[in-house]
Amino acid sequence: MIQKNKIMETSTDIKIDGAMGEGGGQILRSALALSICTGKSFQINRIRAGRKKPGLARQHLTAVRAARDISGAQIAGDEIGSTTLSFKPGDIYSGNYHFAIGTAGSTTLVLQTVLYPLLLAAGESRITLTGGTHNIHAPPFDFLAQAFLPILNSMGPQVKLNLERYGFFPRGGGQLTVHIRPTPKLKSINLMERGTIQAYQARALITSIPEHVAQRELDRVGKKMKWSKDCLHHCPLPANQGPGNVLLLEVKSKQITEIFTGFAQRGIRAESVADGVIKKAKDYIKADVAVGEYLADQLLLPLALAGEGEFSTLTPSVHTLTNIEVIKMFLSVSITTHQLKGKKWIIRVKSI
Ligand code: AMP
Repeated sequence: MIQKNKIMETSTDIKIDGAMGEGGGQILRSALALSICTGKSFQINRIRAGRKKPGLARQHLTAVRAARDISGAQIAGDEIGSTTLSFKPGDIYSGNYHFAIGTAGSTTLVLQTVLYPLLLAAGESRITLTGGTHNIHAPPFDFLAQAFLPILNSMGPQVKLNLERYGFFPRGGGQLTVHIRPTPKLKSINLMERGTIQAYQARALITSIPEHVAQRELDRVGKKMKWSKDCLHHCPLPANQGPGNVLLLEVKSKQITEIFTGFAQRGIRAESVADGVIKKAKDYIKADVAVGEYLADQLLLPLALAGEGEFSTLTPSVHTLTNIEVIKMFLSVSITTHQLKGKKWIIRVKSI
């Protein structure tokens, strides 16, 4: 049953159509984060209308309740399957939190909901998150730790992320811990050039799946990327943390590290999993940009909160374009996308 709004709606609440653009969970997560950071209330309808099973799934509900807990918010509509939500934030409370998704839903996406408010809080926070750590259609732990956080930390805060246990779909049971030391003001960043590429690495994480799957993925990477054997790592994980397999390609440049991930799925050959991620890494290397497709949509919030920043990236995804629209509802910023040549684009954020 979908709960009717019980909290007072005011004409000043920001109204969001959850079906806009990508029509996914990111619209909700960005709105929650920005609402707490700005103190502006919002109402959203048609939540995740663009997805096969619209409305709040466990991961989104956990994000909503986590956002409530850190801000003493008044909320209505926080039920599984709900397609509407009203959210009225209070003050930001730093502290110790444990958010358990209860399924294999993505812990990293829940983290991204509460991260920005807690970055701007008065005190330090420690968070434990349980659920999935390596989910398809979400940033895997390694992406956050190696690609995203170094950039965020260069903006002023100190965020440390620890993987306690792996969690793969459908079993879940993974655990992350996060220590957040806030900053009074986020600094802007300029990531126009990635600098020379210094190292390549492929890691095939695998547990409770035949070992030849990882080997075939790595063989394919070696052959198609022309990476030598010492760049290819077969990484068996503890048997009680699976079954699961992901292939991570790391491209480490002077200014930035990018991570491209292929997720094993039932019925999809190891070679096809590898081919998908190889294509992403090749597109990135060839386009000579600093920021890859996923990092681009995820850097928009910190840049907008900083009030300034720019980066070169690939053709903006629908996630990126949608996130720009959500951000502009809460913050007075201009975010422009400009094609330089081919797949090389520039995204610029400026306070108005
Ligand atoms: P949504 O589909 O709206 O729930 O948003 C998914 C989020 O996960 C977006 O911010 C994507 O950038 C991010 N994402 C999806 N796949 C990956 C990946 N392979 N690596 C890093 N981030 C990802």
